[in-house]
Amino acid sequence: RKADIGLIGLAVMGQNLVLNMNDRGYSVAVHNRTVSKMTDFLQGPAADRSILGAETLEELVEHLSSPRKIMIMVKAGETVDTYIERLLPLLEKGDIIIDGGNSHYPDTERRTTLLESKGLFYIGTGVSGGEEGARRGPSIMPGGSSQAWPAVKTLFQKIAAKAADGTPCCDWVGTGGSGHYVKMVHNAIEYGDMQLISEAYHIMKNLLGMSCDEMARCFDSWNRGRLESYLIEITAAILRTRDEDGSPLVEKILDAAGQKGTGKWTVVDAAHLGVPVTLIAEAVFARSLSARTDERQRAAAILGDTAPALPDLNDSEKARILEDLEAAVYAAKITSYAQGFMLIREAAREYSWEIDYGAVAGMWRGGCIIRSAFLEDITAAFAENRELENLLQAPFFSGIMAETLPSWRRTALRAIEAGLPIPALSSALSFFEGYRSERLPANLLQAQRDYFGAHTYERVDRPRGEVFHTNWTGTGGDVASGTYNA
Ligand code: NDP
Repeated sequence: RKADIGLIGLAVMGQNLVLNMNDRGYSVAVHNRTVSKMTDFLQGPAADRSILGAETLEELVEHLSSPRKIMIMVKAGETVDTYIERLLPLLEKGDIIIDGGNSHYPDTERRTTLLESKGLFYIGTGVSGGEEGARRGPSIMPGGSSQAWPAVKTLFQKIAAKAADGTPCCDWVGTGGSGHYVKMVHNAIEYGDMQLISEAYHIMKNLLGMSCDEMARCFDSWNRGRLESYLIEITAAILRTRDEDGSPLVEKILDAAGQKGTGKWTVVDAAHLGVPVTLIAEAVFARSLSARTDERQRAAAILGDTAPALPDLNDSEKARILEDLEAAVYAAKITSYAQGFMLIREAAREYSWEIDYGAVAGMWRGGCIIRSAFLEDITAAFAENRELENLLQAPFFSGIMAETLPSWRRTALRAIEAGLPIPALSSALSFFEGYRSERLPANLLQAQRDYFGAHTYERVDRPRGEVFHTNWTGTGGDVASGTYNA
């Protein structure tokens, strides 16, 4: 009997996906560049299962039923192109190549076009949830050749996580690179959530003088409320973990954060599309600042360490500050997701993808790193109004923003007064204040641009599109600039 699907790349994600597929009744043929790793897998976790090994790609293709479905789970980048090139001569019209790695969406666009031009199909899919997700049920965000979706839909939805209502956390995103785009934004939102939680931890520790155990209890209680999420849950568990000497392990970890690229890609694309994803951008840059540990050491010696002395707060004062902090994190998180969806919406317009935003939120409800109770509310907001311009305008969320705004402002003030950096909490607050402003000071910017560069401006008392230029100094000419960009 031929295998239902082939999988190339038996590292942590590949192995776990294969076992997951097999648990759901699918036979899988596998291949890995380093054959010994495949042999170890076949003799270890895959022993006594309908999982076939293939030492060559020819053998792998031989093992598969038609139309062939081959999933590539390798390091993103050129390796994927190399496998595609090697597979092309071995495949027939109608066969499907699926890339489940963290590929950059323009690569997926290009590969989809290439395969379709040869009569084959291509699916670029985001897979989130790490090792555990891959094994038990990840969130899967597929896009690419829409004609190929019916052939893999059942398999994908069976191996995917299920939301609380039983819906699979996997649905068709759209054409081209849209699946990988949505995964990219998912990862960037993950950066934002992690940064917000880290800022809350910084405030708890440095402003309130809380111990790791106290903080763990606080995050536990948050996890029983509206902030219930995987990342809050693991934060509590991390804060409780002790090193061998019995002290909290987290305090021994170097404060230099790494990154692999999806956050950076998101910020670059957002700048390109002119979408203000300010919280995500600050989260990416906060990692960059953290990584400059030596320079920060030198700067601290010159500029002074701003960590405040622990204040003498009574229990009720502390509880009030924590209540504000919880509301601030929630409001900032809503703002971050609103920004993320603004970006997806703009990308869909720019790259001609038809994306169902409610379905995207639905796919993130389970299996992935940003899974949370709150994604149910986002899914519901889009279900209520498919044309919703922005999450912040949904009645449910606008109500919460009104209720939490005073707490958010007080929290930002407290942190700023104490000299604590809160890039995500504060930049999202400024975004929110700007977003809800009918009038921003950009009128002055336009005047400045017209003053020095004759860029022209529109007027509030005249129709849009009609442009004016003022001879501000009395010595300039009347010619407006059409090319000078500042
Ligand atoms: P890695 O990203 O570590 O990739 C290792 C796999 O790629 C191995 O099978 C390796 O083969 C193969 N490989 C690397 N370079 C080459 C090459 N030049 N030629 C042939 N094969 C090569 O594995 P992961 O399982 O962590 O991730 C797989 C994909 O899934 C990546 O794109 C990753 O970004 C993405 N992803 C990972 C997540 C995670 O939590 N780890 C979560 C979500 C997505 P060999 O054994 O021979 O070295």
